[in-house]
Amino acid sequence: MKIDRYVSPTELILKNQIIMNDIRQKNHELFEKTDKTNKFMIITYGCQMNEHDSEKLIGMLKLMGYERTEVKEDADLIIFNTCCVRENAELRVYGNLGHLKSLKEKNPNLKIAVCGCMMQQAQVVEEIKKKYRHVDLIFGTHNTHNFPSLLSKAFGTKNTVVEVWDNEGEIIEGLPLERKFGLKAYVNIMYGCNNFCTYCIVPYTRGRERSRKTEDIINEIEGLVNDGIKDVTLLGQNVNSYGKTLENKISFSDLLREVNKIEGIERIKFMTSHPKDISKELIDTMAECEHVCEHLHLPIQAGSNRLLKAMNRNYTVEKYMEMINYAKERIKGLSISTDFIIGFPGETDEDIEDTIKLIKEVRYDSAFTYIYSKRQGTPAYTYENQIDEKLKHVRFEKVLDELNKIIIEKNANRKGEILEVLVEEKSKSEDKLLTGRSRMNNGVHFEGSDELIGKFVLVKITNPKKFSLVGELVEVLDK
Ligand code: SF4
Repeated sequence: MKIDRYVSPTELILKNQIIMNDIRQKNHELFEKTDKTNKFMIITYGCQMNEHDSEKLIGMLKLMGYERTEVKEDADLIIFNTCCVRENAELRVYGNLGHLKSLKEKNPNLKIAVCGCMMQQAQVVEEIKKKYRHVDLIFGTHNTHNFPSLLSKAFGTKNTVVEVWDNEGEIIEGLPLERKFGLKAYVNIMYGCNNFCTYCIVPYTRGRERSRKTEDIINEIEGLVNDGIKDVTLLGQNVNSYGKTLENKISFSDLLREVNKIEGIERIKFMTSHPKDISKELIDTMAECEHVCEHLHLPIQAGSNRLLKAMNRNYTVEKYMEMINYAKERIKGLSISTDFIIGFPGETDEDIEDTIKLIKEVRYDSAFTYIYSKRQGTPAYTYENQIDEKLKHVRFEKVLDELNKIIIEKNANRKGEILEVLVEEKSKSEDKLLTGRSRMNNGVHFEGSDELIGKFVLVKITNPKKFSLVGELVEVLDK
């Protein structure tokens, strides 16, 4: 696909600003005439990167005078922000696009847009253009900043508008965005990935690694803190290599120290760390910076060196354990989470035993466990030693059992502990309780009035559940 970069980032922002104003004016006129506001619905699949891209799209749509709806029949614009990491998510997108055909027949003014990682694959774009002709707009992960212009083009044609850049351009700063949570915010510190794990499509869909300038990140976080955000998660596919692409070299540890100095910030988290790049310096920084939370997400993927090599992960179980042990020693009360892939090509029962051994040694507080799913375009797609689906599920259950035993035991041991909790909302699972997160990322529920939402409180754990903690309010903190 052709890359058409005829304007600088500043010109691009200005151009899109004019288009946004124009669409906003049209939406305003429509409201004056009919009392109706145009509405959009956005469905996001996948990781925090996609969630964050959706926040940018929502920010732009709100500036264009659109209102959000969760009811597809009420929407004038429906957007699917897709993920291609797992086959299931892809199939759901195709299914949902198919269902929208009848809706579009009833309401020809409805616009349908598809964006995100799936669109970075040429065969997917071709399939959508051929089989889902009711889709109005297709754009890629590197084209989010140009959304207003693309939407405007889609209004002026019956053909599908397509803009997918093969690779990344300059980082575009200053896009409007609407944050999902009022208290917590994700902040991208870098984009893309250079690691090429053999199972992963991300380097092909999100492009090569590039870091945002430190001053842009700091300015954004200062603005967020001024707006009342207390909890910031720094996002990147591999945050440990932050700064390598910048002219003024700076490490991720240095960035953490800078963020830690921002007045008014309470909690700093980050994800994702790559075990090959995590350093003792970073662990020391976590231990020394008061606002950096005591939680480390360090995806191991498998407990067998043979499999880690086949996955092109570039670390060994021994190096991983060295870092885990150092982190446990340096950071008091540290909680550790990870990712596992079960059923990678060539996996044996012995590899699973190695993974279980590692689980027992680390004693994780939580883990995301995935069944391997073949992704076209990745090296592992072509491997002949794929694992039988039934066997993958048997091994998955076995690993999950071991993980759950430890997680339940660790939660039970928290009985009587007093945890600092940022209260987020009313609990969806525990009737009449409020819910929030501890600094170690535990979900904590307790009884309290709605005025506590947004506050920091101390909660004494009285009733640890399998995967969450229930307690009693001890004190409301003044911060
Ligand atoms: S580090 Fe590996 S798994 Fe993570 S995004 Fe990069 S290629 Fe994918």
